[in-house]
Amino acid sequence: MSDEQLTPSMAASHGGVGRATGFELESRGQPNASHIESALERNRAFAAAGGHQGAVVFPKLGVFVITCLDPRVDPAHFLGLGLSDAMVLRNVGGRVTPAVINDVAFISQLGETALPDGPLFEVAVIHHTQCGTGALADDTFRRRYAERVGVDESTLLEQAVLDPAATVTRDVERLRSAAAISPRVTVSGHVYDVVSGLVQTVVPAGS
Ligand SMILES: [Zn+2]
Repeated sequence: MSDEQLTPSMAASHGGVGRATGFELESRGQPNASHIESALERNRAFAAAGGHQGAVVFPKLGVFVITCLDPRVDPAHFLGLGLSDAMVLRNVGGRVTPAVINDVAFISQLGETALPDGPLFEVAVIHHTQCGTGALADDTFRRRYAERVGVDESTLLEQAVLDPAATVTRDVERLRSAAAISPRVTVSGHVYDVVSGLVQTVVPAGS
């Protein structure tokens, strides 16, 4: 659907997804242009200017951010993260899934190897307002997606971020209670408001 435009009226006809999520999709790409090409141009400028130099593998801020892949929710922008500042994991909704727990466990284990004692890092889970996962609250959309990926439809509604303060609190608890994650890792929960641009802490850091 690279060159399609989904107008608000079309969104309304797509099973109410536009209404459920509060956003609309609109492509601004040029027809037949490779979508990555302008980004690759920026990469060449980045390398030429030495933007990659001095990068280190241990995050300078000691933070592991888990958030949504929504383009409005890029922590390099709203948290001002520079290169090497943080580990960032983004998925649909910024949800803590079994795969996410395994990734945090993996980084914990690497950290334990390098740092025998003391705190390792803080995992900051950040959910946001107007999240596209709200589409899962729409019965037609949810049924079609359940069939598409072959999962039980009843488990999908739980993935919707309709109340980001509530879902982020649940996901912080999931991480804190995961046996695979080192107790030296602290976890906090936050909500990013895409309208105000502000992040509010819902669950302060703790383990
Ligand atoms: Zn989202």
